[in-house]
Amino acid sequence: RARDDARNTWRFFNSEMQTLVESRARIEAGLHEALEQDHLNLFFQSQFDARGRLTGAEGLIRWNRPGEGRIPPDQFIPLAEETGLILPIGSWVLDTACQCLKTWSTNPRTQGLHLSINVSARQFHQPRFIDLLLEALDQYQISPGRLSLELTESVVLNDLSQTEQRMLAVRDLGIGLALDDFGTGFSSLSYLKHLPFDTLKIDRSFVSDMIATASSAAIIRATIAMGHALGLTVIAEGVETQEEWALLKDFGCDAFQGFLFARPVSNEEWKPTDFSVKQA
Ligand code: C2E
Ligand code: MG
Ligand code: MG
Ligand code: MG
Repeated sequence: RARDDARNTWRFFNSEMQTLVESRARIEAGLHEALEQDHLNLFFQSQFDARGRLTGAEGLIRWNRPGEGRIPPDQFIPLAEETGLILPIGSWVLDTACQCLKTWSTNPRTQGLHLSINVSARQFHQPRFIDLLLEALDQYQISPGRLSLELTESVVLNDLSQTEQRMLAVRDLGIGLALDDFGTGFSSLSYLKHLPFDTLKIDRSFVSDMIATASSAAIIRATIAMGHALGLTVIAEGVETQEEWALLKDFGCDAFQGFLFARPVSNEEWKPTDFSVKQA
């Protein structure tokens, strides 16, 4: 019996798990190649204030895999985190973002804009993280206040006291800190109380049903009020309709990001345009 079970388990492993292991190995090998051959791309999604004026952008990674097209981050970032490849990938993102801010600083239309990048837990907790930030600021001579790091709850869950120390060090450098995907975790409120975030990003899942679902609208309204009471800037992500935008503005939300205004696009395609101008 036990032997039969074991054999069944093994057979299961052969058929299902093997495919999984192979596809993971393929993605891992592909990611190594992507780093070496410059197949990674940082896309930009514009962000706006309540009047539709451009305030900055979020950098979002894409992987252009030869023969397979553009692979979205959800399909490779988790594996990159497990394997540690997120460290060189994250450094590439930081470097690319700073390079972009350097270019922006030379043009009056873009020099006041803000750029935020996503930082994963493993990347944030690597021993050299603060040094990497210092080196990037130094290399590109950018103003640190133009750069923000978006962290998710998984960063905090890793090690609260180290997170706090690191965040204070980031803040001392003058770099901004945003709590991404707010509302999807479990203990976000205590993080907000203890950690030096300056911005809170309301998760897209609340925004996408705030019109149809009164409780989502209520949560958003309360989140904005709480964020403001704590001195935070509140930004809504995933804004897709005029109706959502109107209600969010009504609730006092400070900044907006979503397909209504702009989709993420490559650096070459990205243009520093206000939303109102584009509508006219
Ligand atoms: P995120 O940081 O919460 O980014 C927002 C995601 O929502 C992006 O997906 C964006 O394309 C999408 N989005 C923006 N506006 C709308 C909208 O109006 N409607 C809908 N349906 N979606 C919208 P994306 O680019 O696929 O990125 C997914 C996640 O991958 C990001 O979520 C972030 O957690 C992670 N990620 C992206 N780039 C990086 C990176 O450079 N490093 C790390 N560590 N993670 C990254
Ligand atoms: Mg983000
Ligand atoms: Mg988010
Ligand atoms: Mg997300």
